Amino acid sequence: AKMEGRGTCRSFEPGMDARLQERRQLESELAIGVANEQFVVYYQPLHDAKTSKLTGFEALVRWNHPRLGLLPPSEFIPMAEETGVIDTLGEWIMLRACADAAKWPLPVKVAVNLSPAQFKQQGLPLQVAAALAASNLLPSRLELEITESVLLAHNENTITTLHSLRDLGVSIAMDDFGTGYSSLSYLRSFPFNRIKIDRSFVSLMCESSESRAIVKAVAELGSTLGMTTTAEGVETEDQFRLVRENGCTDVQGWFFGRPMPASELHTLFEEPEQR
Ligand code: C2E
Ligand code: CA
Ligand code: CA
Ligand code: CA
Repeated sequence: AKMEGRGTCRSFEPGMDARLQERRQLESELAIGVANEQFVVYYQPLHDAKTSKLTGFEALVRWNHPRLGLLPPSEFIPMAEETGVIDTLGEWIMLRACADAAKWPLPVKVAVNLSPAQFKQQGLPLQVAAALAASNLLPSRLELEITESVLLAHNENTITTLHSLRDLGVSIAMDDFGTGYSSLSYLRSFPFNRIKIDRSFVSLMCESSESRAIVKAVAELGSTLGMTTTAEGVETEDQFRLVRENGCTDVQGWFFGRPMPASELHTLFEEPEQR
């Protein structure tokens, strides 16, 4: 609801001030949280669709809020983007993920999500190079995931930045493929290594032949363009079978493992072919 004039809002929407206050408080807590490193990076496994072998992990951040407990990214990433603390938080996540991956007993990839705001920073390639150097992680083990929103507002700098990142030796994935409006044209214009097919397609595959046809077409397109295709959000054995049969090269989802803290990953390294 909109404020019609001074004082008119308060009497009709008593919840308004409280919500605004809660938001302000969370904003200031977020700034403090970033300064105090109250965040934890969880990792969700990715597997090869054919062999079921572990191929990597996606880094997914959580906020260990002192008052509210562990918060999912949906509850603070948008706010971090609006207030600008995403730059500092994003850099911290990058450093953390590279340092964690450098300690893993297998040389599998770590995928880090980049928000559009981070992508606008001139120094992003330098920041990535610094994280690799600090952790001594091979660039080939780092993958950066970007969504279409990064490319929506693109200019000459976007393509230059993408190429600078590729020149470092890291790979780039297009995240949430199929949820935007111009995904196909982006595949033509930008140097992606991987397409991540959005969970919304995968979750409908069992009941919808249209969803199966779309996943198959995207997997074929990816293969033709020399990109790997990851099916996101695989929750059941049937979905796993369908994405495999329809040509996806990699799988990710609860069927293979939920995101978990770095300290709990050892079980996955011990049994790389548990399925
Ligand atoms: P995303 O990049 O598309 O990440 C996948 C999301 O799907 C994760 O949610 C993951 O926990 C969830 N997921 C994985 N497998 C399944 C499944 O089988 N079923 C269902 N229902 N969900 C599944 P999460 O961790 O809550 O993250 C949500 C979003 O927040 C991410 O979507 C990403 O856009 C953003 N995000 C997470 N970590 C970061 C980060 O470090 N930096 C930035 N900029 N954004 C992040
Ligand atoms: Ca992602
Ligand atoms: Ca995704
Ligand atoms: Ca998403």
